[in-house]
Amino acid sequence: MKAATRLARFKPAPGDAFSAFAPPLYQTATFAQKACATPGPYDYSRSGNPTRTLLEQELAELEGAHRALAYTSGLAALAAVVRVAGAAGEVVAGVSRQGTVVRHVDATDLAAVERAVGPATRLVLVESPTNPLLRVVDIGRLAALAHAAGARLAVDNSLLSPYLQQPLALGADIVVHSATKCLGGHSDLTAGAVAVRDPALAEELAFVQNAEGTALGPFDAWLLLRGMKTLAVRLDRQEENAGRVARFLAGHPLVRRLHYPGLAARPGHELQRRQARGWGSVMSFETGSVAASRRLADGVELFTLAVSFGSVGSLISLPCLMSHASIPAAVRHDRALPEDLVRLAVGIEDADDLIADLERGFA
Ligand SMILES: *Cc1c(COP(=O)(O)O)cnc(C)c1O
Repeated sequence: MKAATRLARFKPAPGDAFSAFAPPLYQTATFAQKACATPGPYDYSRSGNPTRTLLEQELAELEGAHRALAYTSGLAALAAVVRVAGAAGEVVAGVSRQGTVVRHVDATDLAAVERAVGPATRLVLVESPTNPLLRVVDIGRLAALAHAAGARLAVDNSLLSPYLQQPLALGADIVVHSATKCLGGHSDLTAGAVAVRDPALAEELAFVQNAEGTALGPFDAWLLLRGMKTLAVRLDRQEENAGRVARFLAGHPLVRRLHYPGLAARPGHELQRRQARGWGSVMSFETGSVAASRRLADGVELFTLAVSFGSVGSLISLPCLMSHASIPAAVRHDRALPEDLVRLAVGIEDADDLIADLERGFA
């Protein structure tokens, strides 16, 4: 089956007596047991819940993984990966985490990654394309590089979702998601996911998920399953809209630099064409002036001024003042994150209305 078909047709819930067409919601903390020391398949929802099982099976299948686990947020998922896969070693990453030696490198620079990876490296953690500059990293070559050093490669796939990119098929060992974004798709829940190929790693992650109590609750698991059914149609439409918005921006005199690999001849275009099935719906651009960027973000009406992306509704943000404001200015400068950068997350509205809104904002 193709992805769109699979997404719309969930497998029935295991053991469901009534053949519910939609996933049943087991909104319960505990489960009655037949006798002492004879637990059923589920005993306590922190350890396991049938609605969450359905979600985790669905996520594993979408990513082509042995197993997937659902967490209360994307950061809970990332923390679990670093805790388990990065334990007692070093992590080479584009994001900062505590409790482990972390080396930050530009993952588009393979030689720099190669220099940073050493015998103590347990994990290389990247995202592609990156947020918010939409830089594309070579997942296959990074996997080979990590494996040669005895490390694992984890890819944050939040920006594209498994509908558009399957990092495990490209050689990665671990996929991480902020399911708050594309997978959920409606900005109505916070969730995270981890999908892995290695059964032993899955066991360890499941142990820590239970021991730390970071598993996603049944209602949010149910809500996420509901959102995921329309992942394909949402992303198809969002991407079509994003293409039109990007072409509009590329031709606009107030746009200095547009970051969107979806347009031909852009940096990363060829690489992403090889390793993904699409471009996603997030783009960013520079205006050359923080004041102009602020006036645009404050001036548009249809694009909501808010952090996050991947939802049916279009959002606009200034990363340096919003989502990435907690990164010290010197570090932002170091990583070439322009202060005037505007990020757009394009939704499913009519593209004509979105472009008219941006035109108004620029005016
Ligand atoms: C939002 C985001 C996260 C964090 O996820 P939360 O669900 O907000 O905890 C991690 N990685 C990427 C790429 C994100 O966009």
